[in-house]
Amino acid sequence: GSTIGIVGGGQLGRMLAMAAARLSYRTIILEPQVNCPALQVANRQIEAAYDDEAGLDELAAACDVITYEFENVPLKAGERLADRATLFPPARALEVAQDRLTEKQFLNGIGIETANFVAVDDDAELAAALDRFGGSGILKTRRLGYDGKGQRLFRGAAAADAAGACAEMGSVPLILEALVPFEREISVIAGRGRDGAIVAFDPAENIHREGILSTSTVPAHVSTDVVEAAKAIAGRILEALDYVGVIGVEFFALADGTLKVNEIAPRVHNSGHWTEAACVMSQFELHIRAIAGQALGSTARHSDCVMENLIGDDIGKVPGLLAEPDTLVHLYGKAESRPGRKMGHATRLKRG
Ligand code: ATP
Ligand code: MG
Ligand code: MG
Repeated sequence: GSTIGIVGGGQLGRMLAMAAARLSYRTIILEPQVNCPALQVANRQIEAAYDDEAGLDELAAACDVITYEFENVPLKAGERLADRATLFPPARALEVAQDRLTEKQFLNGIGIETANFVAVDDDAELAAALDRFGGSGILKTRRLGYDGKGQRLFRGAAAADAAGACAEMGSVPLILEALVPFEREISVIAGRGRDGAIVAFDPAENIHREGILSTSTVPAHVSTDVVEAAKAIAGRILEALDYVGVIGVEFFALADGTLKVNEIAPRVHNSGHWTEAACVMSQFELHIRAIAGQALGSTARHSDCVMENLIGDDIGKVPGLLAEPDTLVHLYGKAESRPGRKMGHATRLKRG
């Protein structure tokens, strides 16, 4: 096929459209927001809500294959697209990844460790769950959280501290996760082709600031055993979901050399942006190759690097970054910067 549909027109959709254009695919974005970042690159935008049936059907009719840039595409919309066109990754990946409870149940069900967790729907259940985890844990909304939003940390809490907490979180389904005493956080970007072939980039080591990814460093400071284990876990997830496309898998790496999966993102991932600067093939191109049924290509890295997110006022660093010789600057075309808004990223290659 030669036309690729992308649900979601943010920076990830934009970077997917750029990779698609380089391989001569046309792209159509489904996105309600006018002047979205992806439109500057894509061939066309269908301006419709993600659950708008007419918009979805128009996209399905116009595209050979359809993908998405975010995991909160309504499941019904994903299923509608899958009925009328070819949708990769499959709708099942949306179903699993858009609820932290089903995500952890799925992972544990295929033998992959996560934080211990308890589903929580009211303050009494929260009090009991906190008690079970010794008064500490992270309470998260099961759905729609990102960049650390919709989370509350408890440390040494008493049952009484649960009072009112669920209402403060918006009276939505919640999950309490036990605190994982991780040494580092790493992530693997992996891809699976239509023929079942699997490839993975080396893990990045991730630092978050105020809940938002700040830097990804490659190589991560973990042993080769941990590198291989993380890639193998990503591969098992891809197989279990009969997945096609790129996935991002976030891990907690513990001091004893074991790994727990924090969460999975059924899409290209912020912690994989470094690949565009330090590898021959980026995560975006890998995704396009995979969903289009092409050869997957090589995930080899030619340089070590650090990717830094440019968030809000960080945009002011751009002139200085552009003056650096071994730094790739990538901006998302967003007109206004706001606190916490991802404006771009820069990848510094470590050479010599
Ligand atoms: P993203 O933007 O990556 O989707 P998110 O809002 O889904 O983020 P999480 O990845 O669940 O949030 O958590 C954000 C960060 O909070 C993690 O990267 C980690 O640093 C910390 N964290 C989350 N859960 C736990 C846990 N169970 N134990 C220890 N730290 C945790
Ligand atoms: Mg998340
Ligand atoms: Mg996360």
